[in-house]
Amino acid sequence: MLRSALLRSRHAFTGVAQGSFVGATRASSEDRLRLALDASSFHTISQIHGSVLHFVGDGGEEGDALATTEPGVVVAVRVADCVPVLVEGEGFVAAIHAGWRGTAGDIVRKSIATMEARLGRRVLRAAVGPAIGRSCYEVSPEVVEALEGVAPVGLHWREGRNVDLVALNLGILRSLGVEAEAVGPCTRCSPDYWSHRRSGAAAGRQVGAICF
Ligand SMILES: [Zn+2]
Repeated sequence: MLRSALLRSRHAFTGVAQGSFVGATRASSEDRLRLALDASSFHTISQIHGSVLHFVGDGGEEGDALATTEPGVVVAVRVADCVPVLVEGEGFVAAIHAGWRGTAGDIVRKSIATMEARLGRRVLRAAVGPAIGRSCYEVSPEVVEALEGVAPVGLHWREGRNVDLVALNLGILRSLGVEAEAVGPCTRCSPDYWSHRRSGAAAGRQVGAICF
């Protein structure tokens, strides 16, 4: 399991070795990770490549970011090339799923605004986990155009049709005053991680998970 030295909360980015967080193995994979993080419960959300954040317990069933203010409660997102982002502040944590649609929908900025407005506290630190790298991620002109709308001015996030979702999300976090770092290799290049571009429908899912 991969961790960021920046985050103070208990957290992990899993890979192939920790199992697939889909199908029949999902419950046991989640339970093993919950135990590894010494947590009481494990929560995910039905991800729809949108840009909405929910808090655990507020009844939201579909969304792409999940936050909690409860100690010992894991929030997690499932990914296989998309970007997992874990964030923390004083007394709260969140997991965010940022693929190209979520990134273009400004999910990181919206999620942080939602948490800070509701809690009255700042998001302080963030870790961007293993995701597809720029050299492996060629996209259509429509995707490039959609991402241009959220890219911070002056950030180097593309080479022609190849876009860097990690650099984009890192740049957005830093533009909001959040201390942030990226960890892990390109998921398509590394056999240690699930990759939808490499394996198609056969790809499992890894998770980014955090609790405090
Ligand atoms: Zn790669």
